[in-house]
Order: sequence, then C-alpha cells, then structure tokens
Amino acid sequence: MCFSACGLPEKLVHNLETAGYCMPTPVQMQVIPASMSNRSLLVSADTGSGKTASFLIPIIAHCSRLRSQECTGNQGPLAIVLAPTRELCLQVEEQAKVLGKGLPFKTALIVGGDPLPQQIYRIENGVELIVGTPGRLIDLLMKHNVDLTYVSVFVLDEVDCLLERGFRDQAMQIFQSLSHPQVMMFSATIHSEVEKMSNSLANNVISISC
Ligand code: AMP
Repeated sequence: MCFSACGLPEKLVHNLETAGYCMPTPVQMQVIPASMSNRSLLVSADTGSGKTASFLIPIIAHCSRLRSQECTGNQGPLAIVLAPTRELCLQVEEQAKVLGKGLPFKTALIVGGDPLPQQIYRIENGVELIVGTPGRLIDLLMKHNVDLTYVSVFVLDEVDCLLERGFRDQAMQIFQSLSHPQVMMFSATIHSEVEKMSNSLANNVISISC
C-alpha cells in the first residue's frame, strides 16, 4: 500500500511526500483504511510508530472533503484530538499543520497555560480540528465558547495516560456532548481499564496491534 492508493486528496499526498513520508508505517497501513471506512478503533502503538499521522491523515482527508463539499454549513470543528499533556498536544498540532498545509483545514490548540481569549478567538474564526487537553476544552464547553455539534471524529491519544491522570470523567463529558462520533483510541498498552473505556465509547470497535 502507498499513500497515493488510499483515496487521499492529492494535496495531502503531496504534503506527505514533502514531509518525507514515502511509505505508510505498519500502524498507518492498518489504521488509515479502517478509519476511512468510519470504524471506531482501539490501537496499541508506541510513540515512534507513526501513530500520530495514522489518525491525522484520515482526519485531514475527512475534513477537507466535507469543507470542499460545503455540506456542513457551518464553521464549527469537525474533529477533536484529546491528549494528556500540553507537550503532546503541541506535537500533534504541529504535525497536523504540516500535513494539512494548503487544504481547507485549520487547527486550534486548546491547552491550559495559554491565554483563553486567543483560543476563543481562534475557534470563533473557524477551525476543523481541535487538539487539546481535557480540562481546558471542558472550560470552553461549559462557557459555551465552542460548539461541538459537527464533530464526527473523536481521538483519545495515549488513552492509558488519560485514564491514569484522572481525565476519565472529563473525557466522558466531552464525549457525551458529541453525536455518535467515530472514536479512535491509541494506547501504548491495552489493559482492562482501557478496554472498558473503549467499550463505553463505541460499539464494534476494531482492535489493532502493531
Ligand atoms: P509518532 O509515532 O507519531 O510519534 O511519529 C514518529 C515520527 O515518525 C514523527 O517524527 C513523524 O514525523 C514520523 N513519521 C510518521 N509517519 C511516517 C512515515 N510514513 N514515514 C516517515 N516518517 C514518518
């Protein structure tokens, strides 16, 4: 499998080549087609496996297709990536900007420690993807600064750490404000708590292990 055979927008394939991504990594070979057929996934993959691009590539393809068809009728976000730390969110957003360059795909980084008004301004100007930590996103949700009506993809990166750090209730609260999203969960290790979480968020979850 190569990226150009995955049904991705040409511009995205070009961005992948420019970034030096010649071939999909093993996790990308499994996650990209499953995600593009709208399945919910529980993926066991380590940092360094290419897992970030495995969820960003289908998200960018999905968002740019919807925006170019103009069928959402609104500028609300279409996808959320939750991660346990500000640093991880920064890395994910950075990669999303590189891969989504030149496409109808804007991102907002919603993490604690950064000024709230700038984050609100960014969302109000229209974004496709929110990358954030649970606490700050809940703040914006509670204050009605973000409308999640059109979010159809929900990613929990390092879901094992999200559970350990006690983010479970916040992640569930965000999930409950969405309308039947595709859920993609990534974890270094799949233990029983992670499996329980995945079963509470989606039905017929595909397990992928690389
Ligand atoms: P991650 O596992 O998401 O932390 O990614 C590890 C590193 O692999 C990052 O620096 C990515 O830019 C890089 N990467 C991801 N996918 C590919 C690919 N298909 N080919 C080459 N490098 C990649």
